[in-house]
Amino acid sequence: MRALYIAMQAEAQGLLEALDAQPLPEQPVIGTYYQAGDWLIATSGKDRTTGVDCVGTEPAALIANDLITRHGVTSLLNAGTCGAHSSSEAEIAQAFLISPTIFNHDHRIPLPRFDEFGRGSHPASPEAASLASQLDLPTAILSSGNSLDHTERDLEIFLANGARLKDMEGSALAWVCRQHDIPLLCLKIVTDIFDLPHPAAAQFEANLAAASERLTHEVLRLRELDF
Ligand code: SAH
Repeated sequence: MRALYIAMQAEAQGLLEALDAQPLPEQPVIGTYYQAGDWLIATSGKDRTTGVDCVGTEPAALIANDLITRHGVTSLLNAGTCGAHSSSEAEIAQAFLISPTIFNHDHRIPLPRFDEFGRGSHPASPEAASLASQLDLPTAILSSGNSLDHTERDLEIFLANGARLKDMEGSALAWVCRQHDIPLLCLKIVTDIFDLPHPAAAQFEANLAAASERLTHEVLRLRELDF
């Protein structure tokens, strides 16, 4: 069975409506689950303390593990927004499939083998490159961290990873999928050019609606391929 993980409700809403997705009658404590035909769709749900979407790695990892172990998911798709580095010349609302690799840029553990564990370097779905050419989408390396902004060291590691795109969930989903030997396909839509003086958060808010529309469109295209 395939599941789709979308971190934010605002990113998912258009797609949930287009697919007439129905909330499952029983919801987990962490995450909100919907059925859409033969797809299970999970959003990160709302944090019980602050009421905001549970963006970032912890909810993504917990939910991915739950989808695989309790719901029999054997293939995971992640669709969401991301920042792009200015050198990538990506445009706002441009769509990418992630290939070949997903890294972390804020897990620094300078000890033998732990450094490698911290960097992630998880393989994206081997199908990503051929799906990208069928859909005429570019591919890029993704690097994840738990901050919407970045420190200088984050940026150094991001660039050393060869990444062009930056998000807050991809590497956590990729790590869980790798532990279970399940493929992860990531579709990322650019909301911001994160290394400009104009803060990523302000760009993110201005471009979220356009990016979410693109997300809906591209997930529907992927779904038609029946990959
Ligand atoms: N709701 C907040 C921001 C949410 S965090 C606000 O309104 O400002 C941003 C979400 O979009 C995360 O799920 C992350 O995966 C993605 N994202 C978009 N741009 C990003 C960037 N530059 N860096 C990291 N994550 C980014």
